[in-house]
Amino acid sequence: MAKQWRGVIAEYIDRLDIDRSAPVITLGEGGTPLVHAPVLAKLFGVNEVWLKVEGMNPTGSFKDRGMTMAVSKAIAHGARAVICASTGNTSASAAAYAAKAGIKSVVLIPEGKITLGKLAQAIAHKAHILQVQGNFDDCLVLARDLSENYAVHLVNSVNPDRLEGQKTASFEVFDNLGFAPDYHVMPVGNAGNYSAYFKGYLELQRDGFIKDLPKQLGFQAEGAAPFIAGHPIANPETIATAIRIGNPASWDLAMKAKEVSGGEFDTVTDAEILWMHRYLSNEVGVFVEPSSATGAAGLLKFAKLGKLPASAKIVITVTGHGLKDVGWALKDEHGEEVKPTSCSKNAAEVAELLGLERNT
Ligand SMILES: *Cc1c(COP(=O)(O)O)cnc(C)c1O
Repeated sequence: MAKQWRGVIAEYIDRLDIDRSAPVITLGEGGTPLVHAPVLAKLFGVNEVWLKVEGMNPTGSFKDRGMTMAVSKAIAHGARAVICASTGNTSASAAAYAAKAGIKSVVLIPEGKITLGKLAQAIAHKAHILQVQGNFDDCLVLARDLSENYAVHLVNSVNPDRLEGQKTASFEVFDNLGFAPDYHVMPVGNAGNYSAYFKGYLELQRDGFIKDLPKQLGFQAEGAAPFIAGHPIANPETIATAIRIGNPASWDLAMKAKEVSGGEFDTVTDAEILWMHRYLSNEVGVFVEPSSATGAAGLLKFAKLGKLPASAKIVITVTGHGLKDVGWALKDEHGEEVKPTSCSKNAAEVAELLGLERNT
């Protein structure tokens, strides 16, 4: 019988900060595909590109890697409820893992800025959903305040257990390739994921598996780019809701990761994000939510600027599944809604409509 992937805690127990005897709340997260993408290597003019497809996690984003750790540890500490602020994916994940653990989840979402797919997930997993009159950053302040003063456990990425779980993605990249890429590229919001990959690669280096750290390239949306501004932004704006963050929680960790890895932060426009979002689904066969296309969009910008060596081997993390935010996929490049073409039940007519040649 084929063996099933057991989730990141069981697979990497000897490299995670958790007791062997601790309860494990898992939905089988991790073990996501590393998809070879020669089409992208050609587009960027580099040697090799792979996509780490994190939309294949149980709730459709990388957040599950950290949530299995955070909720398992919350249970070990006797927590009966977890809370998070969320632009959508953290709440979907927290709600699912809390449901699995049999405890309550509370999610604080910014008014009107969460996609329907993600909201549906939080509702499906019976979270207590509160829409806060404020943006994500306000929600996080409130979640921290409640968790410090009331019996509810915070599972945002300011909780170090989240990054500890998320670092397993670096281990998987190394386990799959047998080496570390020259560059590792991803979108940056709170910068928890960017910091977690760095943690993972640093441990691989410490343990003698890799010599050099991948240069980590982190891209933010132009309207929500505090790392490029050099300070928090009061009113972040972008269609990429998962990275619509003005005051990144992992600021210091991310700055260190950038410096030590020899990486860079830069911005892309919403138009560049949407172009790459379409390109990935049209040409690579990988459907992601718009935020998740930000890393690849940034790489295209760098390629056009001549910043990428032809020898480069690159891994791009695509962070969340396309089904979470279908609105953008349902429009063409001019913003017009795409509708299926109506047709009759007659094969000859349909063949003509499709321009099919008759078999000879
Ligand atoms: C959370 C999230 C991000 C941003 O990750 P950070 O750790 O906040 O930088 C990017 N894309 C998706 C789909 C996400 O869910």
